[in-house]
Amino acid sequence: MICEPLFLHLFRKVMVTACAIVCIGLAVLSWSAPASADVLRIGRPLCYAVSQTVAKDSSVPPAFACIGKPKGYQNGTLWLRATLSHAADTHDDLALIAHNSRFDRLIVSFSYADGSVERQSVRSGDFGTHWRAGGQLTFRAPDREVPVSGITLLFDKVASEHLLRIRLLKHGEENTQATGMAALVGAALVLLLAGAIYNASLALAMRRQYSAWQAAWAACMVVWGACWSQLSLFFVPAMAGAATSQICTGLSCLAIALATLSAVTALEERCVSRWLRRTALSLTACVFALGIPLSLMRSRPIDTLGGVVGILILANLVAVAFCIGQAWRRGSSEARSFAGAWAVPMIVLASTSFFDADAMFWGGGSQILVLFAAAWQTIWLSAAASRSHARLRVERDLARRGEAQAHELARRDALTGLPNRRGFIESVGTILDISQNRGETVALLLIDVDWFKSINDAYGHEAGDIVLQGIARCIAPYERPSCTVARLGGEEFAMIIAGLDDFELMRFAETLRQQISDCEHGDIIDDRKVTVSIGVAKTAIVADFRTLYRLADVSLYEAKRGGRDRVAIRIFNAAEPCTDDLRLRTH
Ligand code: GH3
Ligand code: MG
Ligand code: MG
Repeated sequence: MICEPLFLHLFRKVMVTACAIVCIGLAVLSWSAPASADVLRIGRPLCYAVSQTVAKDSSVPPAFACIGKPKGYQNGTLWLRATLSHAADTHDDLALIAHNSRFDRLIVSFSYADGSVERQSVRSGDFGTHWRAGGQLTFRAPDREVPVSGITLLFDKVASEHLLRIRLLKHGEENTQATGMAALVGAALVLLLAGAIYNASLALAMRRQYSAWQAAWAACMVVWGACWSQLSLFFVPAMAGAATSQICTGLSCLAIALATLSAVTALEERCVSRWLRRTALSLTACVFALGIPLSLMRSRPIDTLGGVVGILILANLVAVAFCIGQAWRRGSSEARSFAGAWAVPMIVLASTSFFDADAMFWGGGSQILVLFAAAWQTIWLSAAASRSHARLRVERDLARRGEAQAHELARRDALTGLPNRRGFIESVGTILDISQNRGETVALLLIDVDWFKSINDAYGHEAGDIVLQGIARCIAPYERPSCTVARLGGEEFAMIIAGLDDFELMRFAETLRQQISDCEHGDIIDDRKVTVSIGVAKTAIVADFRTLYRLADVSLYEAKRGGRDRVAIRIFNAAEPCTDDLRLRTH
């Protein structure tokens, strides 16, 4: 079972909640998307006039034109005027909404049927109370007895008439749209912010490069969304106007670059041909490089450069799509996640390049679609990253289990299943430490089979193995925390035991010897009796294992020399002089 970290759990909750908000919001949006009839464009019904220099507040241009395109207004003034028919019932309670663009000043004049005029103005760096979420500026026509007969907009130093988006609504509608837009933008930003934090923590925890790019991309989209929607004006009102719109252009080019880097670095190198990868990265570099002048520009070529950057972005998306497609065909595990994640933003970006979405979605237009597409991509990729994170955890747990098994096997003897010399030395260390702390004595028993070579010679090596397994079965039950049993190699076994006094130890060793010699090995060795000699060493104060082993070996040698099938014990007592400490007893 995979234990889910807290942040993953929390992230999932935030995502589910935000997803629900976004889905409801999108449903409401698509249901209430306004008709394009309220959009004002040149000729429908706007007419225009241009001054090459910046005009005074109240100056009126000599003549308005209603066909063709205005030119030469970038360093001067552009007037746009709509004459409203008296028959229409929308002329009370009017609100004009203009989307934020690059201009120095905007004056909106509402002309009434009685000849009076009401002016409202904003300037770059000061939008007053006119700004709304969704990157919009609202101007409400003050209520009068008489209807509004016309609206005139005066733009100083506007970068492009082509990028202006102006709509006419009723007060009530304008308020509903502004509230709905704020909620939607907020939900999308929360989603993106959660995605950025989650991916950053994944990048740190798993040290994955593409998660870092993904986090940077999501963070970039959060800043872009906050600037585009003007929510940033809550904190820095002076950013209102051209500065925000310029920052947004730069950020959108940076976001394209980061998203491409995230996709290209996520796909395994072997799955994408080098030239395709390079093409995607080169196109990204071009988008980013041209994005810098595009974001700084306030002059006429902005439309041309914007068009070039738009084509490069499309080409970039196609290149990334090819990378993902090729990687998928070559069996990349990441390609599938990326295909799902990129599909929506690609379709959105591509379709907004071909279809005019400016008037759609309460005036949020293509930008709100991009924001939701980005949120979609973050959810998708974060879910994919969670899945691969969970898979990695399973793989890591299996590897750890395998490692533990390998370690256990390395300390076990394959023939008898007892600990081998390595395993024995590991356990001995623990027993020696515990005994030393408790002040107990420790004894080492070396058990060597007598005349084992002759068993091999007489009945074969296999029979010898079976005898060794029988002896192992006989001594294995003594294994416990205070006693460790092992096969040290060949026909030599060992046992270390703590807490027995001299008498108990001698009785124990003798019983063990007797038990082994009573062990039946069957007709495989013609019911021949197999005996062992046991060399025992005991110390009151533990020196170290090597000393104990050397003493036990001497005892074993004594037991063999004494005639085999017997126990010899050496007791080392630190209270007495060293040379006399060694008392040999044989049984
Ligand atoms: P002693 O009483 O002096 O100990 O005589 P011994 O024959 O037991 O001792 P020796 O050292 O001469 O022979 C040990 C033999 O154990 C030699 C070797 O072939 C055999 N042997 C070592 N490991 C294994 C094993 O894993 N399986 C089998 N069947 N024989 C083994
Ligand atoms: Mg032997
Ligand atoms: Mg031996």
